Amino acid sequence: MLRIHAIRRVRCALRWPYAALRDGLGSPRSLAATLALLLALAFGGTLSASEATPTPPFQPPLADPPSYETWFLAQTYGNTSGAYRARNRTYSAGQGIHFGLDFSTRCGTPVLAIGDGTVYAIDGPFGSAPHTVVIAHPNGYFSLYGHLRVRTTHLQIGQEVKAGDVVGESGDSVDEVRCDMSPHLHLEIRTDGMTAAVNPIPLIDAPWWDDASLGLSFSQPTFEVDLEAPRRWQSLYDQPSIRFGGYLLNDYLQPWPR
Ligand SMILES: [Zn+2]
Repeated sequence: MLRIHAIRRVRCALRWPYAALRDGLGSPRSLAATLALLLALAFGGTLSASEATPTPPFQPPLADPPSYETWFLAQTYGNTSGAYRARNRTYSAGQGIHFGLDFSTRCGTPVLAIGDGTVYAIDGPFGSAPHTVVIAHPNGYFSLYGHLRVRTTHLQIGQEVKAGDVVGESGDSVDEVRCDMSPHLHLEIRTDGMTAAVNPIPLIDAPWWDDASLGLSFSQPTFEVDLEAPRRWQSLYDQPSIRFGGYLLNDYLQPWPR
């Protein structure tokens, strides 16, 4: 058994640098792979990077991989500087937080169900005009697809959908006719009967560590800093859940940028 363990340790040790190269140093997967290696060395176990990282339950809402030609995140979920600036207006209902992911993509791009489920709502009463679809998933989450270009007519409320089924087509939040002002899909993942929203990043199996998925907005300050707690809510993964109608989470006395 000792020999088998030694072989397994070597295999785990070999996987680590490959995972780090593939996923990027410092990425969550790379860190998970490092943790798996340390555990394997400590206990002679059989953990591998893939076993140590649970697969997120959902897939991306767009078929193509990220690139500047297909899609990239224009605004991520959370305590973004943009949401901070609009905390008393656009995002006041969501505690001052951008409570979804904005996927920049051309108008008319097919929008796909991120998981199996049933159609819960079409065009209201939930936001993100001009058109929205909500899918209820058996794991208790709801996915909301906002700023759709046209009303989705091929689905009915209560109808079952499978992961990857087309639920609508992407549109523009500013100019829905010309579709050349702010073409993007706004995706939310909600809980508690649609009364709360959570960070979709850890729940969607997409290459978030890849530069191509992160878009141009990441060349600017992405998250608003509270100088009284400067490390809080400063990464893609570390962001607060919100409850609709709750108090502002980011009404900072000492914000940066101001
Ligand atoms: Zn949005």
